[in-house]
Amino acid sequence: MGSAASDAAAGSHSLSAQDVVRSLHTDLQRGLTELEAGHRLERYGQNVLPRAESAGPVIRLLRQLNHPLIYVLLVAGAGALVFGEGVDASVIFGVVLVNMLVGFVQESKAEAALDKLQAMVRTAARVLRDGRERTVPSDNVVPGDVVLVDAGDKVPADLRLIRPTNLRVDESALTGESVPVLKEAAELPTATPVADRRNMLYSGTLVATGAGLGIAVATGADTELGNIHRLVASAEELATPLTRKLAWFSKVLTAVILALAAVTFAIGVARGQGVGEMFTAAVALAVGAIPEGLPAAVTITLAIGVGRMARRRAVIRRLPAVETLGSTTVIGSDKTGTLTENQMTVRAVWTPDGRFDATGSGYGADGEILDNSGQAGDAHIGALHWCLLAGAACNDAALVHRDGRPGVVGDPTEGALLVVARKAGLDLERDVAVALPRLAALPFSSERQYMATLHAVPGQDRRVLLAKGAVERLLTLCTKEMSADGSLRPVDRDAVLAAAENLARAGLRVLAMAMKRVCATEQFDGSSMSTPLVFTGLQAMFDPPRRDAAAAVRACHGAGVAVKMITGDHAATATAIAGDLGLLDDGGDVLTGSDLAELPAGELPGVVDRAAVFARVSPEQKLRLVEAFQASGHVVAMTGDGVNDAPALRRADIGVAMGRSGTDVAKDAADMVLTDDDFATIEAAVEEGRGVFDNLTKFIAWTLPTNMAEGFVILVAIVLGAALPILPTQILWINMTTAVALGLMLAFEPKEADSMQRPPRDPRKPLLTRPLVLRILLVSVLLVGGSWWLYSWELANGATLAEARTAAVNLFVAVELVYLFNCRSLTRPMWSIGVFSNRWILGGVAVQAAGQLAITYLPVFNGLFHTAPITADVWLRILGLALLAWLIVAADKRLRKRLI
Ligand code: ATP
Repeated sequence: MGSAASDAAAGSHSLSAQDVVRSLHTDLQRGLTELEAGHRLERYGQNVLPRAESAGPVIRLLRQLNHPLIYVLLVAGAGALVFGEGVDASVIFGVVLVNMLVGFVQESKAEAALDKLQAMVRTAARVLRDGRERTVPSDNVVPGDVVLVDAGDKVPADLRLIRPTNLRVDESALTGESVPVLKEAAELPTATPVADRRNMLYSGTLVATGAGLGIAVATGADTELGNIHRLVASAEELATPLTRKLAWFSKVLTAVILALAAVTFAIGVARGQGVGEMFTAAVALAVGAIPEGLPAAVTITLAIGVGRMARRRAVIRRLPAVETLGSTTVIGSDKTGTLTENQMTVRAVWTPDGRFDATGSGYGADGEILDNSGQAGDAHIGALHWCLLAGAACNDAALVHRDGRPGVVGDPTEGALLVVARKAGLDLERDVAVALPRLAALPFSSERQYMATLHAVPGQDRRVLLAKGAVERLLTLCTKEMSADGSLRPVDRDAVLAAAENLARAGLRVLAMAMKRVCATEQFDGSSMSTPLVFTGLQAMFDPPRRDAAAAVRACHGAGVAVKMITGDHAATATAIAGDLGLLDDGGDVLTGSDLAELPAGELPGVVDRAAVFARVSPEQKLRLVEAFQASGHVVAMTGDGVNDAPALRRADIGVAMGRSGTDVAKDAADMVLTDDDFATIEAAVEEGRGVFDNLTKFIAWTLPTNMAEGFVILVAIVLGAALPILPTQILWINMTTAVALGLMLAFEPKEADSMQRPPRDPRKPLLTRPLVLRILLVSVLLVGGSWWLYSWELANGATLAEARTAAVNLFVAVELVYLFNCRSLTRPMWSIGVFSNRWILGGVAVQAAGQLAITYLPVFNGLFHTAPITADVWLRILGLALLAWLIVAADKRLRKRLI
């Protein structure tokens, strides 16, 4: 970084705002120019953290040697050299080399894949450039940029705070302290430690409440976060509870097998067998029985799953979520924007003296406001006027034209209010912006449930206060209502509530509007609302359910996953939409936030389990809901987008944040981000999660019998004092080639057609259920029996040792190959899943077959692997035995359908 910027960064907390502005050559009102920002971007580089210092390629390659199997192989290779088996030694060292390279490539690919995922949830930053507010990718923020932050944002760079408004920041990413810190703009002594610099905002921390404006003093690696990042090179791990369990399992197994091999070696030598021969046997036992491919295959399967989910627009942020998704039993989903489109159109305006219907749909100007006799309503007098004005002026959205189509910037709810005002004949510029310039605003929040703004009235010293919000909430602030001619009378609450209920029952989202004339001296803050307002009317808008939502809900129900709508909206609106989506088909209850508040904690789990819709729920209550679901044994996926949703997202087994409408805070807390905000994407992710688990189980069920059988075959040979039916290098051949050419292809297996027709997997259930263990044993027995029989038969009928071993090796591979087809589904017969539905497997089979021909007939391979050509009749026996094995497993499948 250039010296000016780094000086400012180091000491900017002790400088005055003017000095910071001066030293960074920027302008508080106008920000940088785009041109200057471009220059600085070139000079200082992108605002990204450097990759965690990853070791150089040589170190990473050497790290691949740190693996139990490799130790065994290295010892075996050295032993082979000592015993003068130069060819064996070179094969073994060759395998070590190949293994290192494969591991290296795989690690790099996995890292690249994770990087790509991170890039899918990039954040944006708001900056002043050329005097205008711009939204730029946070990567492009440069020192000197004037940056604006709001509640829910992630701070994009280190900022010297200039203008805080009730700003509290969660700095736990930096200091570990999770209570949000209040920020101020005042200068501080130079010696103030980082954690106490209240006038600084640090990159990567999260704005909990309020808003602020600051100047970027450091970006990228120069930020405090960059410092920490350098200290702890935190490479994201490709590990989940399951991979860790499996890695542990393979380690223990390896230790046991090594001990067994050592004992075998000792006993054999003690019994007088040759040291070289027993060494080979011990190595064969170790190499064969260790399931070395398992952890790698599991990681690859998970990574492929993550990729598939990303293609279906669900970005996984924490890998364990892939596993948990398949076990999800409850999805708690927001309504607006997730189950519905969040494309609002006002359909009706209700005033105390009559109802008007709005025609036309979308954000276009077509349409009008008609009373029940079909007459256009007069939008310039009385309640209708003030109702529409409150909607249009107490509003932060703007109507725009994008690609020639009308659209809205900001909250679609507010966009709809602008559209209807325009349809009614109000001019948004003349009648709203000019006639009622805004002086102050109390923004909408889900807790407050209303928004209010204060406006000047040009030419008068009185002012106007406008408010809009949830009906029940706003009515508590009103004592009077306005009539059609503008006169006031006491508000008829029952009539208003009945009208709102009526509109909501039709699935419309209802907002109440109110106004008040105030004198110029009146204070405007939360407290001014305690003086009564005048109710002017209701506006009811339609938000169509998402196209795929009903089908996704149905799919979830079929899969034993309960879907609960959790919304801040009115119970009647929520109920109507839930009805349309089929959420209430199973007769679930509808509960409101106040029902929840009254329930004793003990009763909560049972009650929430029976409910399908939760209306007028506050974000804090979401956390209670997650906990209640979990208390009744559920695995919970919960959606959220706001700052206050973060605790619920963190607590849920799978926190799901909205990629488009969600705040950075919510995304940060989430395990998964939906790039399209669509409920159907959660359903798709659950489906993929189940697929991943299925494929993992299939791989394990496929690979374990080979390892067990190889170990047994060697053990039997040692116990009988016979020559080994398969040699260590041959075992290496079998394991390496089949794992890559056959086993890995299972990771590409398409999802089973019935994956969403079974109940969710119980996470406490072991990966290998009893019937599956029995099947693995069955196949091991088939392999041991088959290979011994064939090996002995060949020897008894005049084959050489090399020929008999070649027959045994080919039998192992042939059985693995047909068993692979058995494993494509653990329950269903092969023909029902389509023989050609996984082309990867067919390709793998072709490669493996070519490999077997090579090892059997190519003289080079014969020399390397101690094999010899075999005749057609041997192949017939091999294929016959393999077919038999396939039939036996198929029969086992038929007998025990409910296997997994
Ligand atoms: P969900 O949690 O499903 O996204 P929601 O978006 O409808 O539900 P909130 O945004 O908390 O929930 O809205 C709650 C209520 O507040 C709405 O029913 C509406 O009456 C009112 N409301 C929503 N947006 C605004 C707004 N911009 N200004 C004023 N009131 C609003």
